[in-house]
Amino acid sequence: MRRPSVELRDASRGRITILGSGTSHGVPMIGCRCAVCVSDDPRDKRWRPSIFIEFQDGFRVLVDTTPDLRAQALRFGVTHVDAVLFTHSHADHILGLDELRRYNVLQKAALPCYADPRTARDIRRTFSYVFAPLAGEGGGIPQLELFTIAGTFCLGRHEIMPVPIFHGSRPILGFRIGSFAYLTDTNRIPDSSWPLLEGVKLLVLDALRDRPHSTHFSIAEALAVATRLAAERTYFTHICHDLPHAATCARLPAGVELAYDGLSLDFDGM
Ligand SMILES: [Zn+2]
Ligand SMILES: [Zn+2]
Ligand SMILES: [Zn+2]
Repeated sequence: MRRPSVELRDASRGRITILGSGTSHGVPMIGCRCAVCVSDDPRDKRWRPSIFIEFQDGFRVLVDTTPDLRAQALRFGVTHVDAVLFTHSHADHILGLDELRRYNVLQKAALPCYADPRTARDIRRTFSYVFAPLAGEGGGIPQLELFTIAGTFCLGRHEIMPVPIFHGSRPILGFRIGSFAYLTDTNRIPDSSWPLLEGVKLLVLDALRDRPHSTHFSIAEALAVATRLAAERTYFTHICHDLPHAATCARLPAGVELAYDGLSLDFDGM
């Protein structure tokens, strides 16, 4: 990775907050009485997967709009969003899109959103009332500017590097920002993407459960990635109800933990 100037390096410092660390069903799951779903540990309550990034200069970026977005924003104080990044178009990552209306009202502006071409196409189709509104229909409609991304781009003074990863057979995007990388919904990092992750110090990585899965890393597979990348701190996300927080963290190696909703982590530039 090209080394940014000192000024850019400072600008890319920031803090991420895990808005949701759960898999697509969330934890607890509807109708499940397993030990994790009935657990009293607040870290065993997992909303759908999303993060919020606050840069040191005040620029704020939301990654994905989950079906839990309203509750996440209320609980974790997401009162301003400058841009939205999408990893992919699965329901657990986009179905809260309509909640973005509030930021239009608060900020009196359309909200820029960024996605790869396939995800952008899926979002336009899923939310056709937003992108091709019928004349004369009542009700508020989110004002969004949806841009397609193909490579590294800038948001404000911040460099955002998309990291292509595989989610089963489907290519989706992770993101690298300064020394931080967010890789949710993946079970394979292609050869061409490893160099993009070189020098990552803070990693948030998909680890669904212990048993293998066709589109997500298992704990063992995610640990192999964590070992190869050797970030100072690795947090697993997109976690299902198989993994109790405390007992799972107790068996993970030093420097690797399960993320939990509300966890805040600082990162710096490169
Ligand atoms: Zn997902
Ligand atoms: Zn359960
Ligand atoms: Zn997915």
